[in-house]
Amino acid sequence: MSTIRKDLEAREHEWLAAQAAKSDASRGRLRPEPEDPIRPAFQRDRDRIVHCKAFRRLKHKTQVFFSPAGDHYRTRLTHTLEVSQIARTVTKVLRLHEELTEAIALGHDLGHTPFGHAGERVLRQLIPGGFNHYEQSLRIVDRLENDGRGLNLTWEVRDGIAKHSKGKRGAPVGATDANRSTALEGQVARVADIIAYVNHDIDDALRAGLLAESDLPTGPIDLLGRTTSERIGRLVTDVVEQTLAAGLDQVRMGDGVLEALLGLRAFLFDTVYENSDATSEFHKASGILGGLWEKVHAKPEAFLDQQIVDDEGVDVAARDFLAGMTDRYAVGLYEQLFIPKPWVELG
Ligand code: MG
Repeated sequence: MSTIRKDLEAREHEWLAAQAAKSDASRGRLRPEPEDPIRPAFQRDRDRIVHCKAFRRLKHKTQVFFSPAGDHYRTRLTHTLEVSQIARTVTKVLRLHEELTEAIALGHDLGHTPFGHAGERVLRQLIPGGFNHYEQSLRIVDRLENDGRGLNLTWEVRDGIAKHSKGKRGAPVGATDANRSTALEGQVARVADIIAYVNHDIDDALRAGLLAESDLPTGPIDLLGRTTSERIGRLVTDVVEQTLAAGLDQVRMGDGVLEALLGLRAFLFDTVYENSDATSEFHKASGILGGLWEKVHAKPEAFLDQQIVDDEGVDVAARDFLAGMTDRYAVGLYEQLFIPKPWVELG
């Protein structure tokens, strides 16, 4: 019997490139479940991510600038939306699966800590075994959301989320097999992430007065363009052209454009992510998260998920609790636990 969903799945085979992922060829979910009557699998995953609590918390998580005073700085949520937009542009032109890319892009940073890079570095030091936001993103969708049942996403979305991260030196394209998403759509999300953050972090650093236009490295700027819009356009066009020219075997960039992009990333690490002002924020994040880590260990029953404590121990439950916090939740809880309330005299 024909259904609406099956019609949409059939259309994917007619319209998308042979190399694109197809909803009806998914490797499936962690737990098998009946298909939706109208939405193919990847579209359903995209919707599950948009409706989950961790997605809403992204709006109060720092991207780079700590508790920004201005309304125009990126948050983790607006970063996520910019990644999604760039990834969808590339995906559409390459005739890949737009909703699969979108699901991966919208889910890729769900596991990010409060206080941006500073928060991630603090948790990495605090937690035995370290911390990686992409592992935490996967844990959120597999286990923590939906009252401990997880979102039960498809293998392709989970694979893309697990392999989006490049860190300080990882390659946005041409990663090793172990680090490269099997689906091209995941590879697109990976490159869209760096195209988005390198450009919006330059924009925010200029807005904050941390950088001046004249500080930007001339080689990459000459090649990619002077404005955010020019640079994103140049990078996206290069990804599309290079990937098409190689017959869609994997997502690619030209050597010169890739080098310029990596040059801007290295410049941002030196001047913004790891500079002295960022270090002062690091100390604040370290104090708050370190204090909360001790408090929840001293009294786990008051703060932590008992099921996770029983199954996986206090450190894992504390990691999930702290990593899931928004900046303002962490600051609020810290104030409640550590700052004495002023005595108010009545009458
Ligand atoms: Mg990201």
